[in-house]
Amino acid sequence: MANVLIIGAGGVGRVVVHKCAQNSDVFEKITLASRRLESCKEYQDEIKERYGVDIDIAEVDADSVDQLVKLIERIKPDIVLNIALPYQDLTIMEACLRTNTHYLDTANYEHPDTAKFEYKEQWAYDQKYKDAGIMALLGSGFDPGVTNVFCAYAQKHYFDEIHYIDILDCNAGDHGYPFATNFNPEINLREVSAKGRYWEEGKWIETEPMEIKMVWDYPQIGKRDSYLLYHEEMESLVKHIKGLKRIRFFMTFGESYLTHMKCLENVGMLGIEPVEHEGCKIVPIQFLKTLLPDPKTLGARTKGKTNIGIVATGIKDKKERKIYIYNVCDHEEAYKETSSQAVSYTTGVPAMIGAKLMAQGVWMKSGVWNMEQFDPDPFMEELNRSGLPWVVEELS
Ligand code: NDP
Repeated sequence: MANVLIIGAGGVGRVVVHKCAQNSDVFEKITLASRRLESCKEYQDEIKERYGVDIDIAEVDADSVDQLVKLIERIKPDIVLNIALPYQDLTIMEACLRTNTHYLDTANYEHPDTAKFEYKEQWAYDQKYKDAGIMALLGSGFDPGVTNVFCAYAQKHYFDEIHYIDILDCNAGDHGYPFATNFNPEINLREVSAKGRYWEEGKWIETEPMEIKMVWDYPQIGKRDSYLLYHEEMESLVKHIKGLKRIRFFMTFGESYLTHMKCLENVGMLGIEPVEHEGCKIVPIQFLKTLLPDPKTLGARTKGKTNIGIVATGIKDKKERKIYIYNVCDHEEAYKETSSQAVSYTTGVPAMIGAKLMAQGVWMKSGVWNMEQFDPDPFMEELNRSGLPWVVEELS
């Protein structure tokens, strides 16, 4: 039975709270903390009404290690689930270290002033976490997260060596707005407008944004334009998958999304440097976030499905093999269950599963770990049980 502290009452945080409340035999005590108490209050009432489960709420600025330490010392959680923003990864990891508390997140650290995310600073905590006897599980969302587990599962059950991996992320949801992002707009637009990158024969190869496109036929969705992006799970997968020669990440975008994004970029609205506006300083992309629909509100209007998976090619018993592992998630079904659309759902469910396996001691060892470093089987079983069933197809 675990006592968990969830930090971040956004779109994904809502799903995590629902899923933990659904597993109240494991998560005996749940506290939801966020910058604004009113976000927590709304979810607290929803959880009580839906499941009859009481959760505690708290206000915290997760940019402040001192505030976090005070909160953790008061609540004494077994695990802190960081469902705030990637900017808060290091402060929350530091607070967990100071209080000897296990840590989990869904996205790797990103510095607010540089649109670049990497594991370096989080991996640097590995020895300190080992010495303290605590664990950090990094990237327990869908991608990163489930995609890493799919790769580990393919490696364990289908291949002697995997040579090529393509991670394929399709969101075919339609929310009816001309332009909106399905998760935090600032994080989303920074990721999508950045240069692309993939890894081949030991080297990272950089591309212009959206330079490489392919069309993939996504089961239950159909053919979609898919663009090569850099995505964080590749940084750990190149270290942990045996015999890998190339790994790429593709995400689908409709023409309207790309046209809007290009236009916003051209007029400077994606800028992350402050600009002077009538005597005050504003960061264009943060102002844009204020104008765009809050991702939390998209759930009620989004129809369609997501399909996220991996295609792995390699060798088994001296023969070439190609495997496709994927999950299809329906926006309306996700909303019915958790009042959130499928992008939040597919991230929040794996966060709960990661915490559950840690709480049960199934995935538990001191240090800082990526998802593919654990036995994938218990996680895969939990996905089937928790609303994200997966399919394995042999492609050749
Ligand atoms: P939202 O913007 O909807 O929610 C983030 C929440 O964090 C907000 O509600 C905000 O709280 C809270 N927050 C922000 N700053 C602070 C702070 N300083 N202190 C305390 N709380 C803070 O984002 P999402 O829910 O869409 O995303 C959550 C995380 O999930 C992000 O890190 C995102 O990158 C990650 N993600 C991972 C995916 C994956 O597959 N691995 C996919 C999608 C998202 P408040 O409302 O109180 O101000």
